[in-house]
Amino acid sequence: MNLLRLIFIALAVWVIVALVRNYLRRQAPPRQPPRIGTIVRCAKCGLHVPAGEALVKDERYYCSATHRDARD
Ligand SMILES: [Zn+2]
Repeated sequence: MNLLRLIFIALAVWVIVALVRNYLRRQAPPRQPPRIGTIVRCAKCGLHVPAGEALVKDERYYCSATHRDARD
């Protein structure tokens, strides 16, 4: 009977650990990937801007609409 009790205790502990883990996972804020995107260079002035904020034209990156639309 001792072994059966041991198995029961182990099972109970496992269930508690699983529940706590599940609870903690739900409490934790969703992990967001670090927003370190690719840095691109403005084809006009050479300013480095994140690719997400850069303006693209003809496969070239620009820091602003002024530089994008400017003629070389
Ligand atoms: Zn620029």
